Amino acid sequence: MARRTAAPPSVAALITRLEGLEQRVLQLETGRVGPGDGRAAVAKRTRTVRRCPGCGLPLRRRNGRCAACKRPLDSI
Ligand SMILES: [Zn+2]
Repeated sequence: MARRTAAPPSVAALITRLEGLEQRVLQLETGRVGPGDGRAAVAKRTRTVRRCPGCGLPLRRRNGRCAACKRPLDSI
């Protein structure tokens, strides 16, 4: 492989990474997510949020048009 790597990680570093991964697996198995984990927010907004077909932003109507890109919305 052409991939360049620096010095191989030490055993202690690997153990530290393994412990971190075990912690994440445990959180996934128990359905919890750690603080600052983006997955919790993503799961919340899987609810139906209408988005503008023009700009893809969450739809905010203004005078029958998208407030962001001014696309006419009478077709949707
Ligand atoms: Zn738009």
